[in-house]
Amino acid sequence: MLYRSTRGNCSNVSSAEAIKRGLAADGGLFVPEKAIRFDKEQILKMSEMTYQERALSILEGYLDDYTLSELSDCVNQAYTAEKFETDAIAPLHKLYDSVNVLELWHGPTSAFKDMALQILPHFLVKALKKTGEKEEIVILVATSGDTGKAALEGFKDVDGTKIIVFFPSEGVSQVQRMQMVTQEGSNVYSIAVKGNFDDAQNGVKRIFSDEDVSALMHDNGYKFSSANSINWGRLVPQIVYYFSAYADMLKNKEIEIGEKINFVVPTGNFGNILAAYYAMQMGLPVNKLICASNDNNVLTDFINTGVYDRNREFKKTLSPSMDILISSNLERLLYLVTDSDSEMVSNWMNKLKNEGVYSVDQDTKKKIQNVFWAGYSNDTDTLKTIESVYSETGYVLDTHTAVAVDVYDKYVISTSDVTKAVIVSTASPFKFNESVVKAIAGEEAVAGKTEFELLSVLSEKSGLTIPAPLKELDKKSVLHKEICEPLAMIDKVREALKI
Ligand SMILES: *Cc1c(COP(=O)(O)O)cnc(C)c1O
Repeated sequence: MLYRSTRGNCSNVSSAEAIKRGLAADGGLFVPEKAIRFDKEQILKMSEMTYQERALSILEGYLDDYTLSELSDCVNQAYTAEKFETDAIAPLHKLYDSVNVLELWHGPTSAFKDMALQILPHFLVKALKKTGEKEEIVILVATSGDTGKAALEGFKDVDGTKIIVFFPSEGVSQVQRMQMVTQEGSNVYSIAVKGNFDDAQNGVKRIFSDEDVSALMHDNGYKFSSANSINWGRLVPQIVYYFSAYADMLKNKEIEIGEKINFVVPTGNFGNILAAYYAMQMGLPVNKLICASNDNNVLTDFINTGVYDRNREFKKTLSPSMDILISSNLERLLYLVTDSDSEMVSNWMNKLKNEGVYSVDQDTKKKIQNVFWAGYSNDTDTLKTIESVYSETGYVLDTHTAVAVDVYDKYVISTSDVTKAVIVSTASPFKFNESVVKAIAGEEAVAGKTEFELLSVLSEKSGLTIPAPLKELDKKSVLHKEICEPLAMIDKVREALKI
């Protein structure tokens, strides 16, 4: 399988090369040149497979410049029952008769980014070998919370790599902060930046584009890379769990082979739901993909009107991992639905960059609406949803998943479509416990308590055990104490690398 850029000026790239580069040189995103199809027989067979075997069967088509034993190695190092605390890796939980929840948060950081970031480092290390890269890779990440910790966990002690994560000193939760400053591993650096996420993000961008720094890195045998969600190596492992959910429903005799189902995805950067779209293109029987946003509802408006407009106020919500105004992976969808019209895609992306807004033609809008339905949930409705699902079923949703459930309710009311549905659950309720406890036990239950104290409150209320990585987190030793001004980030990188 070869890859090309959505902007049209880069093609014939192997998967290892695409994973190593992350972004194409013309600014576009790498997409596979051909579609891979799975027939009913193959999907049926998956129902008898383990998660690891399902993963291998998807990956071997897309990453065919890796040998089967290399891929197997990646899969077996990433998806272990120890790291995910369950053999199923991505288990289904039955919520209502025709609604399942796909739990993607059993990994080491209790959120769904682990599904991709546990395996990406292994793809990357092998990609370096395959492409004859001699330099050691230094991953730089600016994070608003979840990605940083998932990347630290994924790259920790992976040979031939170092990882430096910058997080804003203001704007990560207590749990997220402790997760990052207690990170173990011989190749990891986690540094607070005075300011907010934008300060950290701009700092990382400055370092990436500084030519003197690149030269210095090169002289010392290092090379920067990023682990962000536009990397094909992060997208492809996400296709797996859509097939896996379907295969589990077949196995449980909830559906017949060929029966279409709906997926509901809490969306930010459009990576997760795009993986669902790829699964559908590959032959997975899907009726609708329901795109759920919070108050930062750029995508809701786009899917409903065809106008993408980021010129609006950025809102901080209770589902912070979806607080995003530019959904980068949407570019891949546009490329696919316009039959690879890279000129048109480049035009739209330039408009987005220069004016903050673009609008697609009627035909493109229709094609998108044929597959996608979009809605959003504000904070009040999100909390109400957590409360009502808990009182009806005893199941506890995190805030991101609650956005999806609320939007799904709105979908059913608006369309009367009761096709069986899978709600994609992206975080453990323990990770965003303050909002969750508030929703199910009221304001008094959280008053005066730290997020760490609330872990046990939530455990009592829900009857769930606290995920191992979060338990005792407040008692772990702080290993990373550095804090710097945005302009001093480069000095911290040089100190860490001793260059
Ligand atoms: C990253 C994230 C999302 C959004 O996923 P995208 O692939 O960016 O659309 C949703 N929920 C949680 C908990 C996340 O960490």
